[in-house]
Amino acid sequence: MLPELNTTSLGSIREDGSKLILHPADVSGRYTTWRRRVAAVLLIIYVALPWIPVNGFPAVFLDVQERRFHFFGLTLATQDLWVFFFLISGLGFSLFFVTSLLGRIWCGWTCPYTVFLDHLFRRVERLIDGDAPARRQLDAAPWTTQKIVKRVVKHTIYVAMAAAIAHVFLSYFISIKGLYAIMHRSPQDHATAFGVVAFLTAALYFCFSWFREQFCVIMCPYGRMQSALVDDNSIIIGYDKKRGEPRGKVKDVNAGDCIACNRCVQVCPTGIDIRNGLQLECIACAACVDACDDIMTKVGRSKGLIRYDSLVGLNGGRTHLLRARTVFYTLLTIMGASVFAWRASHIEPMLANAMRLSSGNAFNLFNGNIRNQFVVRVINKRNQPSTYTMSVEGELPNELQIAGNETPIALPGQGEDLKSLVFTLPQTSFTKSFKMVVRLTETATGKSVTTMPIEFSGPDPKAQNHDYLNAGQYLQK
Ligand code: SF4
Ligand code: SF4
Repeated sequence: MLPELNTTSLGSIREDGSKLILHPADVSGRYTTWRRRVAAVLLIIYVALPWIPVNGFPAVFLDVQERRFHFFGLTLATQDLWVFFFLISGLGFSLFFVTSLLGRIWCGWTCPYTVFLDHLFRRVERLIDGDAPARRQLDAAPWTTQKIVKRVVKHTIYVAMAAAIAHVFLSYFISIKGLYAIMHRSPQDHATAFGVVAFLTAALYFCFSWFREQFCVIMCPYGRMQSALVDDNSIIIGYDKKRGEPRGKVKDVNAGDCIACNRCVQVCPTGIDIRNGLQLECIACAACVDACDDIMTKVGRSKGLIRYDSLVGLNGGRTHLLRARTVFYTLLTIMGASVFAWRASHIEPMLANAMRLSSGNAFNLFNGNIRNQFVVRVINKRNQPSTYTMSVEGELPNELQIAGNETPIALPGQGEDLKSLVFTLPQTSFTKSFKMVVRLTETATGKSVTTMPIEFSGPDPKAQNHDYLNAGQYLQK
């Protein structure tokens, strides 16, 4: 007889709604070993990315201050960030694809939250407080000197690790050099960065020291989408009921393979019993697989009572990996990645924006001339210095004079500058407003970009030479 499926409450929350502190037991086995290896590689990658220089910038550097975003040698200005829509959608669909194929493998193996929690914070806890029974005993013990010392040491290390992660996070936005510089100054000199690190440290400490698996169960949006992404052919971690039930003692010849030792429950970091079927809390960490394999080996039965398999497979059927949804998600992933690659390879190496000078007036009148003044922001998106020339295009009156584009503009790599463009037209030649664009041309390559159209404006020709025209006269003209 199967245990009744608990559909009304979470395994890690008591009936009164308070949090049950879980102490997952130690586990070893092939998946645990591989998870540790993967986590070690990921931790190195997380920390190393802001250190590795590519094209003169960190491999990943979200330079918010300069509004430049560097990704493995590709530099994007704020205006180019729309390209990331395709990359992010492609990544989103690739996650859909992986989930529809392999369930929550992301959660158990590669999610930074799991990596930090399982492979840093829980390891420290194991080191200081001992194994699961010792931790439970310590929790229940009175506040002796030894318990206080252990708690102080553990939480001090937690805070230090949370602060270290927060600093690594910040280094993605201000670079290691920037981080080093601000760490040597007073927090008052960089209040925002200090505030971000302080907040993140507090949030990470809260999550990893106490909230733990509740984040995956209650807050993670990806976890909430699981049931919509997996189907009966998705590879999940499941219990082979046909083989395991009815549970019984090892020597019971009428019992199935499950000896009801509960090891799979004891090692589960989210406190569930996988024998009750796939549950929302399962992060696919495979701890129960290793635990059960170990038991099966000890009792001389074949491994795999709990295993990676599909629901179809667990029920004795043949799993189909190629399905409409996996093909659909694959196509969407390829589409997102292709559009991103195509657009990223066509990003212009420079940018020009023209804005009317914010002096209050659209134009000025002097000595019978109309003057319009614009500011052109020129951005060099290359990492090398470059020189540009500026020209103006449109249906321009012959009498229009342009000042400000006579000399080439030299910019350092990733540099930008503001240039003034002044347009002057005799008032007698002005019949109506007209549009034009500023073209910026790179002298070395001949590549060019244009600004959005700007408008030369002047006084309403009807009003010209009627300096003292009043509103009534104006309307009659
Ligand atoms: S570890 Fe295996 S044998 Fe033990 S209770 Fe879980 S499923 Fe049954
Ligand atoms: S049920 Fe198994 S795979 Fe799922 S979270 Fe618990 S131990 Fe990990």
